[in-house]
Amino acid sequence: MAVQVDKSLCNGCGICLFQCGAYVFDFSPQEYRALPARNRHCVNCFACVAKCPQRAIAIRLGGRAL
Ligand code: SF4
Ligand code: SF4
Repeated sequence: MAVQVDKSLCNGCGICLFQCGAYVFDFSPQEYRALPARNRHCVNCFACVAKCPQRAIAIRLGGRAL
């Protein structure tokens, strides 16, 4: 499983950092966006996907984006 943030869509709002109970995301001040820093902690709840206002987050399972 891989959590991916589309750089071109993310506006750095930080909502995903607060939504994710598994603390998968870090914030990059340099890039001003969210980074999926701890993919292996993801519990596949899709809260981040549902709440991202930019629809910038994809969860990939075996190469397929969900
Ligand atoms: S919620 Fe979406 S737009 Fe906001 S920081 Fe996270 S990935 Fe970026
Ligand atoms: S799917 Fe759930 S656990 Fe995984 S990164 Fe998103 S909010 Fe966190």
